[in-house]
Amino acid sequence: MYDPRSMKAEEFICHEEIEETLAYAQAHKNDRALITSIIEKARELKGLSHREASVLLACEEDDLNEQVCQLAEQIKLDFYGNRIVMFAPLYLSNYCVNGCLYCPYHAKNKHIPRKKLTQEEVRAEVIALQDMGHKRLAIEAGEDPVNNPIEYILDCIKTIYSIHHKNGDIRRVNVNIAATTVENYRKLKEAGIGTYILFQETYHKESYEHLHPTGPKHNYAYHTEAMDRAMEGGIDDVGLGVLFGLELYRYEFAGLLMHAEHLEAVHGVGPHTISVPRVKHADDIDPGAFDNSISDDIFTKIIACIRVAVPYTGMIISTRESEAVRAKALRMGISQISGGSRTSVGGYTEEERPHDTEQFDVSDQRTLDEVVKWLMDSGFIPSFCTACYREGRTGDRFMQLCKSRQILNCCHPNALMTLQEYLEDYASPETKAVGEKLIAAELEKIPNDKVRKLTIEHLAAIKEGSRDFRF
Ligand code: SAM
Repeated sequence: MYDPRSMKAEEFICHEEIEETLAYAQAHKNDRALITSIIEKARELKGLSHREASVLLACEEDDLNEQVCQLAEQIKLDFYGNRIVMFAPLYLSNYCVNGCLYCPYHAKNKHIPRKKLTQEEVRAEVIALQDMGHKRLAIEAGEDPVNNPIEYILDCIKTIYSIHHKNGDIRRVNVNIAATTVENYRKLKEAGIGTYILFQETYHKESYEHLHPTGPKHNYAYHTEAMDRAMEGGIDDVGLGVLFGLELYRYEFAGLLMHAEHLEAVHGVGPHTISVPRVKHADDIDPGAFDNSISDDIFTKIIACIRVAVPYTGMIISTRESEAVRAKALRMGISQISGGSRTSVGGYTEEERPHDTEQFDVSDQRTLDEVVKWLMDSGFIPSFCTACYREGRTGDRFMQLCKSRQILNCCHPNALMTLQEYLEDYASPETKAVGEKLIAAELEKIPNDKVRKLTIEHLAAIKEGSRDFRF
């Protein structure tokens, strides 16, 4: 029944296979020989199967768990270096016809104000985001074919790309909207989107149907097969995720990796990113109502296990998580974080953080400048780079870049140049001072002499006012 090549949700995310995997992992959680051999396999950086990775997640041997964490850190450094890509969510509309039990935008919530940005308001939000220094956005919207049809989303994307305020520029728009048709995915592709992101929420079909009692999102197969339609529509980069807390985390973990295996088997390229959101308090949502919440330790273990299982996949953590959790997660394999986020419709143009239309409470409420400085103080390079997608390095071409280890001659200088732009245009004097030092030190790590020389020239040009260099 389990068939990663099948196009049917219940065959590539096979419940029986997940149950057997969990039983196998449980039976081998203290099998030191097996666990050691899986860690050795992971060291070859070719990834792990959902079954192997599930054994690592179940492992109860402290020293071996420590080895997995160290390996996750090592893989992160080898593939992604110390760069962390920055982004911000932009909420367009909270109109929604679905009944998701965990989301305050559910249709039955009658007291939450419903709001949809006009193109003028999109413009104002984007200017506010550009003034913070953002270059990469993830647009978010509820599902409502009348209020937020695909044409509305396409108009917003057009508006976003058209705005160039001072030296500001949004260079990559990722899209997190409900599952849709091949035709609509094609339209999104034509509009120049980066990654299409859709969280599965839960891979457990029965729970999924219970958690999505009404609306189009109730259809498990339609939702689960969305990434195949997105790829058929020409979108190369897709982003997976589950909402941790809804179902048993071990089930979700196996499902997530099976989904990645399916994309690799059918389309020859795995997911571009994996997000790891956890259910948070929101307007009429109490996370305590879902009895599968996970501790911070389990959460970081999941991140480490995903890192070693799919080394070429970027991992995203949002401001749902606190500074302390993000600090730990960053070491375990996260490659992309949001900063200065507002999760309400129209939130960026408000002086005070508004709560009335917020999708969930934000734990990390620091400004982007504070997050950037914090990252640099912790030894990371905040990167505002969007080069890959603009150079057509998407899908398997991006994977090739990762695998050929050319990141230090490509992503690394791009990160330094976009950070320099940020320092020139948006940083506070303290952040700028820290950044200048960091860039000088990091330049030494570029292995290719020619690339290093060019980067130094471009950095000087950026200080003189030029923008948007890339390798
Ligand atoms: N409406 C689109 C859909 O149905 O896929 C996507 C946009 S929604 C704004 C983005 C994600 O936020 C959802 O996929 C869900 O995982 C997450 N989310 C919803 N309620 C949440 C909550 N209370 N806490 C944390 N994350 C939540």
